[in-house]
Amino acid sequence: MTTETITRFAGAFVDGREHANDGDPLAVTNPGTGEVFAEVAGGSERDVDAAVRAASSAFEEWSAQAVSKRGEILGRAARHLEEHLEELIPLLTREQGKTLRDSHIELTKAVDTLMHYVGLSKALRGAHAPNLAPGVDGIVLRRPLGVVGAIVPWNFPTTLLCNKLAPALVAGNTVVAKPAGTTPLTTLRFCELLCEGGLPAGVFNVVSGSGSVTGTALVTHPQIRKIAFTGSTPVGEQIMALAARGIKRVTLELGGSDPMIICEDADLDAAASAASMGRFYNCGQACLAIKRVYVFESVADGVIEAIADKARRLKVGRGDVKGSQMGPLHTAGQRDEVAGQVERTLAAGGTLLAGGAAPEDAELEGGFFYMPTVVADSPHDAPMATEEVFGPALPIWRVRDLDEAIERANASPFGLGSSVWTRDLQRARRAAERIEAGYTWINSRTKVYDELPFGGWKSSGYGKEHGMEAFDYYTESKSVVFGSQA
Ligand code: NDP
Repeated sequence: MTTETITRFAGAFVDGREHANDGDPLAVTNPGTGEVFAEVAGGSERDVDAAVRAASSAFEEWSAQAVSKRGEILGRAARHLEEHLEELIPLLTREQGKTLRDSHIELTKAVDTLMHYVGLSKALRGAHAPNLAPGVDGIVLRRPLGVVGAIVPWNFPTTLLCNKLAPALVAGNTVVAKPAGTTPLTTLRFCELLCEGGLPAGVFNVVSGSGSVTGTALVTHPQIRKIAFTGSTPVGEQIMALAARGIKRVTLELGGSDPMIICEDADLDAAASAASMGRFYNCGQACLAIKRVYVFESVADGVIEAIADKARRLKVGRGDVKGSQMGPLHTAGQRDEVAGQVERTLAAGGTLLAGGAAPEDAELEGGFFYMPTVVADSPHDAPMATEEVFGPALPIWRVRDLDEAIERANASPFGLGSSVWTRDLQRARRAAERIEAGYTWINSRTKVYDELPFGGWKSSGYGKEHGMEAFDYYTESKSVVFGSQA
């Protein structure tokens, strides 16, 4: 067992430089060892106010630039950041727990998203309504909102931030971000690197801190025009209620319980691999992940055994140890929550086919590990069917046909992602039309494309990120009519 030295951090990056927060300190823990290695000063109301004021002062000049110029500046900053990925990858693994490979994938994707919107900065076009009446034309102007507050969770601290940051900045807004209390370090360095790379002071600021103090101060600050939030559904509901004061704009990317439907004519090997990858990557801590599998009963035995076999063979280990395929959960609380959902589901009548406990390996004792778990044939009202499982545990059910599969898939308060596995494209199309979710993959899984709008239905969220559509959520529109004089 290692003993980590605790390093102290000022906790914020405001107006182009480090800012010393004066709130309560946050302990940053290495989930692979369970040891605290850093202490970060949390942001008080005063610290949030300083950041929002800096962003507000920077807004006038930033929003007045040509949109392509903003793209050019962001692009240069993103390239500078990219040159430092080798420094950020181990830092992300140390505070989040994910494998170095997953940190590499996350950070590369974060840069890709920034560059995607840099590209779009040269392609923005608007709407025009010609000849509304003889000699009368209309155009629709779009203008940035002002200062945007971005609040993100700990599972993908940088990509979830960039989904907000990139369209917000290109559209002309300035941003104050609050990372999760347990993952502030990568985000602080991320901000510093973008500023070093040429992002003007105050355009992007970060204040670490707890949700209850720093998060609430950001959401309720009178100069914040919009909150872009990713996190749990209960906190999303609170933010939506708080944002009512001042009619602040919100986008909410919330929880999910994505169904996967495997039909009898699917490529069953590919489907089993996708179920395993789609459930266990990032240790199952992803909003978009395969969280419920419904397999046609005629092929169920083979598919269920193939998925369980893959789960049993995954190499669980510390994120910074070569060869680890799945790291720890992010916190002890997160691990206990998942273990509790599995236990309650087994007690309700499910069959355990893999995992169901922490690993026995003494080397992993201090970390927050849990074995990849597969549970089959539980009742449809068991916790793993009705609650979001945010960890490496997959429930599987047998279904008669597509109608039953879709009925089960839709019997959830969530509606984020979904997938359908079949070689019959008409059947796939019918299923995609009927499943209540913001994304349906046909014969593929969980990959989000910057080109396509992404956002949940029902309790999974409100508004869209990604795609050209993201700009609609960071701007106000104004219709302007050029008329002939009456
Ligand atoms: P939380 O909702 O608890 O936290 C998310 C962020 O909100 C954190 O920064 C947190 O700070 C902050 N926060 C907490 N309370 C408040 C508050 N009252 N006011 C303002 N901010 C607050 O989510 P989890 O950490 O549990 O993250 C996992 C959840 O995120 C899952 O449900 C998952 O499905 C969802 N998610 C959704 C995605 C999507 O795109 N739809 C993508 C990824 C995850 P602190 O850390 O200090 O508590």
